[in-house]
Amino acid sequence: MTTPLDDRLAVLHGLPLDFDRAALEALQFVRLAETIAHARARSPFYRDRTDWPEGPIDGRAALARLPFTTPDDLVRADPPLAAVSAGEIERIVTQPTSGTTGAPKRVGFSAEDREATLDFFHHGMTLFTGPEDRVAIAFPADRPGGVGDGLAAALRRLGATPLIMPSDATPEEFADFLRRERATMAAGPPVRLLAAARVSRFDGGAPIRLRAVLVSSDHASGALRRGLERAWGAAVHDHWGMTETGYGGAVECGAHAGLHVREADLLVEVIDPATGAVCPMGEPGEVVVTTLGRRAMPLLRYRTGDRGRLIDAPCACGSRLLRLVGLDGRLDGDVAIDGRRFGMPRLDEILFGVDGVCDFEVRFVDGAPPTLAVSVAAVSAWPDTALVAAVEAAVASDGLVGPLVATGRLRLAVGRSEGTIVARRGKRRLVREEAPCAAFT
Ligand SMILES: [Zn+2]
Repeated sequence: MTTPLDDRLAVLHGLPLDFDRAALEALQFVRLAETIAHARARSPFYRDRTDWPEGPIDGRAALARLPFTTPDDLVRADPPLAAVSAGEIERIVTQPTSGTTGAPKRVGFSAEDREATLDFFHHGMTLFTGPEDRVAIAFPADRPGGVGDGLAAALRRLGATPLIMPSDATPEEFADFLRRERATMAAGPPVRLLAAARVSRFDGGAPIRLRAVLVSSDHASGALRRGLERAWGAAVHDHWGMTETGYGGAVECGAHAGLHVREADLLVEVIDPATGAVCPMGEPGEVVVTTLGRRAMPLLRYRTGDRGRLIDAPCACGSRLLRLVGLDGRLDGDVAIDGRRFGMPRLDEILFGVDGVCDFEVRFVDGAPPTLAVSVAAVSAWPDTALVAAVEAAVASDGLVGPLVATGRLRLAVGRSEGTIVARRGKRRLVREEAPCAAFT
């Protein structure tokens, strides 16, 4: 048994169709040697590094000797990371960062780099998409070369029909769009999909049934996945990736037991974020990626700041590709009270468990005790009082946050935000605030 991703990898890189992990890893380290040679010859950043180890990087143990590349290196870009001339860079993605300098991260891609991503999208989507599918795309698709645009191109390659949603569509408009366009699938950020799914159950329109949905670009909690399955009957497939991985990174197969890594193009490690040591297979830590074959801006041992763990056990789908699991957000997003840590993944699990909640925003305000201020966007059919009571009850029944509220170590303030989705720029995150000056409280 095999999968379209495994077969494509074999065909593209000259492996037998029944390749085993040893053959795949041998291929990865051949590609790594080429990538290192290219980076050391052409990228000022990698050429000038003085902490480079001696000897060949011919396996995972040797790889661990390479120094890390960090998001700060991308922000500083001094020396520049690019390993091709400016003319060969077809697209530069500029990303705002929350760093102190406020300078953006810039990641460049060559035409070959973008083709590798399109090919991964194409064969990754083939895991659960066919030519008969009509796929509503809720990722921004207005810029050529962006995620939505790339996904649409990949879907056309496999014969399916991409349906591009306006990027400013409300959840109500999204639900109407799915009905009008007779969509069989949807793809987008998880909360945009959930908000449309919940709205569609209460708006009086015809029930929407989707075969499958692809969620990407944010953590998809179990409660959110259950909400999508319940509203639309959809099988949920998660995707993990970031600009630095060339968007595509790992995709969930029909076995729904982890995300298969794009291993021909990425060497993934998991490290202890405190010590930098590589974690044993299966242990959680920070996901680190090394790009294989990337031309414009190779990244060697790039620290993503994302939590996850790798598993190498065979998957029920037949794929031999490693799986990423436990991808539950950023390492730096938690707050701690009396040694109890929680962040957005936990809050997603609690709040999206309340039927009718479409989205929410949380501020953690320092104080004695600190306050968790939750502003909830919900379907209009839910009255304010019932909504607030349901959210308070959900928090109270949570084994971690509930006792903090019950014993007065954390104050909970629940309010309702307008509409069915929260207007925000950038990622959903737990916002930390200093307490206002005592004189004004
Ligand atoms: Zn699988």
